[in-house]
Amino acid sequence: MVDRRDFLKLGLAAATAAPSVSEAETPAPATVTPNADADFDYVVVGGGHNALACAAYLGKAGYTCVVLEAKATPGGNTSTEQLTVPGFWHEACANTPGGLFRNNVRKELELDKFGVRFANDPAELSSLLYFADGTPLKVWKTFDRTISELSKFSAKDAARLAVLYKGMGPFLQAVGRFNGAPIGYAPTVEDSLMKLPDGPVWVRRMHQTMADTLMQEFESEKFRSFLTYYSTINRQLPYREHTGLDSLDMYHGRQEAGWVLVIGGTGALVAGLVRAVEANQGKVLTNKFVTGLILEGGKCTGVKTAGGETFRARYGVVSSMHTNQIIKMAPEALGPVYVESAKMLKPLFAEMLFCVHYALNEAPRWKVGDERITCPAVQFIGTLEDRVRQGNASLEGRLYDGPSFLQVFNPTVVDPSRAPPGKHVMKFEVLAPYALQEGAAHWDEIKRGYADRLMAVVRPYADNLDDKNIIARRIMTPLDIEGRNINNVGGSCHGAAENYAQSGAMRPVPGWAKHRTPIPGLYQTGALTHPGGSVRGEPGRNAAWIVLEDQGKDINKIASAG
Ligand SMILES: Cc1cc2nc3c(=O)[nH]c(=O)nc-3n(C[C@H](O)[C@H](O)[C@H](O)COP(=O)(O)OP(=O)(O)OC[C@H]3O[C@@H](n4cnc5c(N)ncnc54)[C@H](O)[C@@H]3O)c2cc1C
Repeated sequence: MVDRRDFLKLGLAAATAAPSVSEAETPAPATVTPNADADFDYVVVGGGHNALACAAYLGKAGYTCVVLEAKATPGGNTSTEQLTVPGFWHEACANTPGGLFRNNVRKELELDKFGVRFANDPAELSSLLYFADGTPLKVWKTFDRTISELSKFSAKDAARLAVLYKGMGPFLQAVGRFNGAPIGYAPTVEDSLMKLPDGPVWVRRMHQTMADTLMQEFESEKFRSFLTYYSTINRQLPYREHTGLDSLDMYHGRQEAGWVLVIGGTGALVAGLVRAVEANQGKVLTNKFVTGLILEGGKCTGVKTAGGETFRARYGVVSSMHTNQIIKMAPEALGPVYVESAKMLKPLFAEMLFCVHYALNEAPRWKVGDERITCPAVQFIGTLEDRVRQGNASLEGRLYDGPSFLQVFNPTVVDPSRAPPGKHVMKFEVLAPYALQEGAAHWDEIKRGYADRLMAVVRPYADNLDDKNIIARRIMTPLDIEGRNINNVGGSCHGAAENYAQSGAMRPVPGWAKHRTPIPGLYQTGALTHPGGSVRGEPGRNAAWIVLEDQGKDINKIASAG
């Protein structure tokens, strides 16, 4: 057995040491004693998609849940809203639920039965990239077709990418197993890989820097740029250790699932999850901002809201609140070590998102030679070095002047339901600092100018992005993104950065990654728990796994029952 001190000495991957860290946790209670006078079995705090997924699993297991959401509508960062003018539905935050599309959550919760439909036609063009010199690249939903487009830059690199892509299966399966179970309940990625003859190569690749992998494997700058772009999706910088497979992993995900969309937007996914909760006597209540925990007999037995209401749970409370909130609510019960470690969680380093939402008369017609095409996702990308410069600018609180990995989404070309007939929505998304040198509040002064600058970059690439086409626009700075969801601390998309020190067995607090907290009866879910942010539902499922284990039940049996 390895104790906590030994773990700290090991210094190997967090994931490798995961079971040892988890041993430090409070052991699971032999039986969960019910509290009297409770209306629900579990109180679930926060109405993001992970908390809803957790409540839906608990409901499937026969437990009643009440979900309490602070805002007027559930969903958190998974939300589709009329942000510009009535009739135009925009993704306020998340665009593509690629994780949830590919894992088991949507099947186990039978989301199709609850009205969730995905738009992902494999015959379509998936995305269009423009390199900094203006060269376009079409990315198809079929890998071989994409490789044949890429081979015009380097046949050698195309062949190498095909070998790596096709060899990634065991790595991806290992990641899927690790992410699909609470910490300590599935082999670590390293343990899985080391069983394979070429395991040491993949483990080395995984833990070196992304730049190392791209420089070792590819000689053409276009290939390195293409793959560097995918690093922006999870906000990892090329010279950071433990990111060696990030771009290949992210590219693989987008290549396989495309820019998969929910018909009607991610808000429709949330509506389906709410129906899944309600189908098992669950309730989702909005405008319930939880401000306190009820602690009785050393256990968490309920919560208090800002409106003065109390909600008592028969068995426990599952929170998707940021740890910043719970450490203020119960510092003594959580203990000084938990509190101090939770306080050290960092948001997304320097890089947050700056977004511009547009209502349009027409879909942009992108120029590819003499062709004019529409496309749901278009990216303007720079080189690996540009990506480093962009990251450094953010660290210094500056906007980057060079090619800054700008993403443009035009979902209405595959899902017209989001706008009046013939009309369209479009979104620009770019990485930018929260803390500007002049202070975060300075965003309000510069946001219009910055949005204009981004449009000036994009406009020459389409033949109809003139002022006549634009009905309205709405700008969302990192400050606005923070303002719309209390969990978006410092404008963060995932509550806290997903770097090595804050992932796996160390998320949200080393020793407490298994969804329990030092307070019996208080569980944690959401993007701040394993396996982290994105629209994926796994943190919700993994938390339900532990809650049900404490009831002596096996989530895998419950999930597979129809
Ligand atoms: C701009 C942006 C773009 C993104 N794009 C993508 C993308 O394309 N694809 C992708 O997969 N991911 C994307 N993400 C990330 C993804 O949206 C999040 O990681 C994910 O939605 C987190 O889900 P969650 O359920 O854990 O929490 P959240 O969505 O953060 O929901 C938490 C909920 O809890 C509520 N809450 C918090 N505290 C309390 C309290 N005290 N009382 C009551 N309620 C409370 C909040 O109001 C909120 O509704 C993006 C994020 C942002 C910000």
